[in-house]
Amino acid sequence: MRTTTAWQGTGRSTALERAEIERRELRADDIAVRVDFCGVCHSDLHALHGLTGKQAAGLVPGHEFTGTVTAAGPDVTGFAVGDGVAVGTIVDSCGECAMCAAGQENFCRAGATVTYGGKDRVDGSVTLGGYSREYVLRSKFAYRLPAALDPAAAAPLMCAGITMWEPLRAYGIGPGRRVAVAGLGGLGHLGVKLAAALGAEVTVLSRTPQKAADAIRLGATDVVNTTDTADLARNANRFDLILDTIAAVHDFSPLLRLLGLEGTLSVLGAPLPTQVNLMDLVFGRKNLTSSGTGGTKWTADLLTFASAHDITADVEVLPSARVGEALDRLSRGDVRYRFVLDLADLD
Ligand code: NAP
Ligand code: ZN
Repeated sequence: MRTTTAWQGTGRSTALERAEIERRELRADDIAVRVDFCGVCHSDLHALHGLTGKQAAGLVPGHEFTGTVTAAGPDVTGFAVGDGVAVGTIVDSCGECAMCAAGQENFCRAGATVTYGGKDRVDGSVTLGGYSREYVLRSKFAYRLPAALDPAAAAPLMCAGITMWEPLRAYGIGPGRRVAVAGLGGLGHLGVKLAAALGAEVTVLSRTPQKAADAIRLGATDVVNTTDTADLARNANRFDLILDTIAAVHDFSPLLRLLGLEGTLSVLGAPLPTQVNLMDLVFGRKNLTSSGTGGTKWTADLLTFASAHDITADVEVLPSARVGEALDRLSRGDVRYRFVLDLADLD
């Protein structure tokens, strides 16, 4: 076993402790990655609060990181020591089902192995995430970090970014399509940038009027205040697709009313209990859907697109020792728009 240093859950919510953890010795197709930067996702908070079914005590969160290859197993092709890499929410899958064959490992029929709180397919150990100085994974689930992208600001592409990108691509978003993004946080701000770069007309749906100027700067052309019923009424039947990133239980009805004929509400702020009024779908033959991060096909596609369009997250980079502060501010909505931990202080 190899050891590395990590920020580990104590079972007391956002109180993480610096701890030595074990990483496996490299298998033939593994790489070892020195984690340089790891984004702080609201899902990390949900997990630490025990909302995702993962054991909060002992949890090492972190599932969007960039780093540098430090070792490669003998069967690894495509990566060499010193290469910059990016890793997201999935580190293994069965590789045999139709979903894996389609590059949608996020929907692996046998269950994808997630980056933290998952179960390793070979030794059954619990996976520990990227709030750590080293990660070991199958090279298939690492991606070359495009040289044009800043490594800290690129890290959030690997969860926040891909969670927005898959539905944008799956629904063929481009010029002439009207997209709204509900919740301007880590996911939402990347959703705005990506949808605008695809040529769509983008509107932000936000409860926070102070974010309106940012929404426009990020690429939106309009902002709707979700706490203002008159503003909502003015925008009824308007959108083809709404990417809903709201990180709390909420009523879908006001959002569904904003969709046009056969419009789609993609609820991405999982895992939250939901209740749907079917009448909100009836009038306009509307669609309610969801998805979870992305597989290798769309993740590779995203990195190519982000590199070509110079798209990364707006980040506040903190030394990893300040992880508790990042989590607490994230829980209060005090982030513009993604915290990224610099893991160099774990050396
Ligand atoms: P975030 O940075 O905290 O952003 C969430 C945004 O939701 C906030 O900025 C806020 O935007 C809005 N919001 C409205 N009401 C809220 C409330 N009562 N509490 C909190 N936020 C509220 O979070 P994130 O990292 O983007 O993640 C968003 C959600 O997606 C989380 O639930 C996360 O677990 C989930 N997620 C899902 C996937 C997936 O694969 N489906 C992947 C990653 C994350 P305004 O101020 O603009 O209203
Ligand atoms: Zn995430």
